[in-house]
Amino acid sequence: MHRELRDAGHEAYLVGGCVRDLLLGYEPKDFDVSTSARPEQIRAVFRRSRIVGRRFQIVHVRSGREVIEVSTFRGHHSPDFEPDGDDDALPHNAAAYADSGMLLRDNVFGTVEEDALRRDFTVNGLYYDPDSDTVLDFSTGVADLEARVLRVIGDPVTRFQEDPVRMLRAARFAAKLDFTIAPAALAAIARCRDLLDQIPAARLFDEVLKLLLTGRGEATFAVLDELGLFAPIFPETARALAAVPEWRAMIVHALDNSDERIGLGKPVTPAFLYAALLWPALARRMEALAKHAQLPELAAISEAAPEVIAGQCRRTVIPRRFSTPMREIWELQQRLLTRRSPQKLAAHPRFRAAYDFVLLREQSGEQLDGAGDWWTRFQTGEQMPAPVAGPRPRRRARRRRGSGRGNADGG
Ligand code: ATP
Ligand code: MG
Repeated sequence: MHRELRDAGHEAYLVGGCVRDLLLGYEPKDFDVSTSARPEQIRAVFRRSRIVGRRFQIVHVRSGREVIEVSTFRGHHSPDFEPDGDDDALPHNAAAYADSGMLLRDNVFGTVEEDALRRDFTVNGLYYDPDSDTVLDFSTGVADLEARVLRVIGDPVTRFQEDPVRMLRAARFAAKLDFTIAPAALAAIARCRDLLDQIPAARLFDEVLKLLLTGRGEATFAVLDELGLFAPIFPETARALAAVPEWRAMIVHALDNSDERIGLGKPVTPAFLYAALLWPALARRMEALAKHAQLPELAAISEAAPEVIAGQCRRTVIPRRFSTPMREIWELQQRLLTRRSPQKLAAHPRFRAAYDFVLLREQSGEQLDGAGDWWTRFQTGEQMPAPVAGPRPRRRARRRRGSGRGNADGG
């Protein structure tokens, strides 16, 4: 890829995560190329290419079945993203900042050095030339890789003000690479974390998936939590965890399970993970509803679920294709506990996820009268236990504080 660009007289390097991962001995997820060629010049070199992004133009080049992102060296500091929102009124091909110092757009082209210095962390700012096997390092990336330190390029506070998502990226890379975060960056995060409130909810949804659903979710949650960055993205869950620390097990197990599945190459769905991440918030609301309105559990879920989802959507959008199955997983919980009409329930399209959710709840310490085991045996057809007598599961005497269970004696 870089070779074709060079043959056409341009400078070109591999850049960013792939260089970092190669130097660390990991297999890169994908390859990014950075070049002095302008978008139209890149297009002229590669037949199978197209310019994507209006405000931050990059070129997607097809190479076999892969798509390689080729971007032109940028001057000034700029995040590699297209900020959401309509900024058509702003002049193009110029950097634009909001009053807060947040960078809105940047299409100023520059040199390779300028391109390096606008990147987020020193270890992400390395350029590699496979032909001569040389690494260009305009900051301290190589030394920081060796010391396994995540260091912000430039002044951390300024760089986090420009793009608060970089704080989340710090947590992601610290967990993924098992790096320590440099003290200046830690201090800056403590000062700047509230700026995450300014990030559009749509961008945060994508970021949350990268944080929690790419194989290192449990470790990333621990780092986020330690840095005070979990509360800005999951405020209601964070409040529930503060009130009932036992709920933490649910989050940790859910993330651990999905890390394991990802490690085994099995599919994971954001719907299931979000169902777990928001369960403590839902349980708390249901408990409050049961206390005040004496609502049966199913009615309480129907009332609380949309509120929890709407609240979360103000921070991270949850596309309907995920929020609908998420609600179904929640709503099936009660039916799985009562175990009535098991054949019919087992045929429900969301049965499997709801059953996994019961197992997760039990794994996390909720007492559900052996429902998980019952359904496991039901599915294997092995020695069918008798269905539970009575219309509802017994109220647990040793009910866990805040479990949101056992209040459903209506019906
Ligand atoms: P991963 O392997 O997880 O994809 P990555 O380092 O490739 O890690 P990307 O999000 O793919 O991360 O971004 C590619 C590169 O673009 C980064 O290495 C970094 O140099 C730069 N970059 C991305 N996002 C930002 C940002 N918000 N601010 C500054 N630079 C960024
Ligand atoms: Mg990448």
